[in-house]
Amino acid sequence: MRLRLALRAAARSAAKVSQKISAPEIFRRSYSQLHPQSERPSFGIAFDIDGVVLRGRTPIGGSPQALRRLYGDDGTLKIPFLFLTNGGGVTESKRALELSELLGVHISPVQVVQGHSPFKELVNRFEDELIVAVGKGEPATVMSEYGFKKVLSIDEHASYFSDIDPLSPYKQWKTKQMLDSMYNSKEVNPRCNVYSDRVKGVFVVSDPVDWGRDIQVLCDILKTGGLPGKEKGHQPPLYFASDDLEYQAAFPSERLGMGAFRIGLQSIFNAVHDSPLEYTSFGKPNPFVFKNAEAILSNLVYNMYPHQEFAMEGRGHTFTTLYMIGDNPKVDINGALKAGRPWFSILTRTGVFRGKDNDTQFPADLVVDTVEEAIDHILRKECSTSSSAF
Ligand SMILES: [Mg+2]
Repeated sequence: MRLRLALRAAARSAAKVSQKISAPEIFRRSYSQLHPQSERPSFGIAFDIDGVVLRGRTPIGGSPQALRRLYGDDGTLKIPFLFLTNGGGVTESKRALELSELLGVHISPVQVVQGHSPFKELVNRFEDELIVAVGKGEPATVMSEYGFKKVLSIDEHASYFSDIDPLSPYKQWKTKQMLDSMYNSKEVNPRCNVYSDRVKGVFVVSDPVDWGRDIQVLCDILKTGGLPGKEKGHQPPLYFASDDLEYQAAFPSERLGMGAFRIGLQSIFNAVHDSPLEYTSFGKPNPFVFKNAEAILSNLVYNMYPHQEFAMEGRGHTFTTLYMIGDNPKVDINGALKAGRPWFSILTRTGVFRGKDNDTQFPADLVVDTVEEAIDHILRKECSTSSSAF
C-alpha cells in the first residue's frame, strides 16, 4: 500500500511540472487488462512537427502510416508519444484536433507540447497583471486558456494608441482588432485601462506577423516600463516561446523564425535604449523542454496503465530510451544532446537538414531519410530487445 501511495504521489508531482492530464478516453480503455505489466513500453517518442511529419499542412515522410503503427487495432495508444514543437499560436486542444485531422490518428491535447506551453508555469506570477501576447494565430486566447486574466494581443493593445504605427495608413491589411476599434470609437477594454495600467509582462507566443509595427510597439512598451508614450521606465520581463532562427515551412527553402525576430528587436532596442534588452527564451534546445517532455510521457504511461504500480519507488515511469525525431540539428538534435540519456536523437532529411551524412556541429545518434524510416528502426530495435509484440 505504501508503494502504491508513493507512486501515486510521484505521478501527481510529475503532473505538476507537466500538463494537467485528465485521463482522456483514449487512455481509459482497458489496455492495461489486455497487456501485462512486462509489456509496458520502456521507451517513448517525441516528434518535431514542421519538416518531420508536416510541411505546411501536408503530411510528409510517410507520417500518417508511421503514426498508425503506434496504436492498437482498436485505436488505443500502444506506444507513448508526443509532439514537441517550437511552433504554436493556437491552444493545445485546437492543435491536437488539427493534427488528428491531418494525420488520421487520434491525438490528445496532452500529447501536444508547443513552444509556448511552458508559459503556463508563469501564471502565478502574472495572473492578475496586464500582459501583452504577440504572434500569429490566437496568442491572447492561448494565454487566457493557461489562466492569465488580463491579456491583450499586441494588435488590440496597439489599437488603443493613435499614431503608434506611423506606417499603418500605408498597409493594405487591417487587423480585426483595428477594425473593431474604429467602429467602437476607442472604447477602452473593460478588463484594463491601457493608459494607466502598466504592461507587466510581454510574451511572444508565436511568430510575429507585422514585424515593423511589433518592433515599434514592443520598444515603446519595454522602454517605458509598460506605458507607451510616457517617460522611460524599468523594462518589464520579456519571454519568447522559442529562439529558432529558421524553420522549414511550405516554401522550398527555410523561413525566418522567432529567433530572427528576436535578433531584430534586440538590435533595434539596444540602439535606441541605454540598457540592453533582457529576455528569456523557451523551446528546444532548452533542456527544460526535454525534462518536461519526459514527465509528460511518464504520465501517458501512467494513464495507459492506471491500475498498475510503477516499477520505480518514489518516481514516475522510467524509460530506457526516449527518441527525439527532428529535422533541425541546432534545435532538435542539440536539445537531445544537451538533455543527455535516455534521449536518443534521430535526424530526418525532410526539413532543414538535407545533408548526405551526419550534421558536423550537432551529430545525431542516427540519420534517416524520413520519419517512417525512423519508426521502422525504433520498432525493430525495441521488438528485438523486448518480449512484447509491438
Ligand atoms: Mg522542424
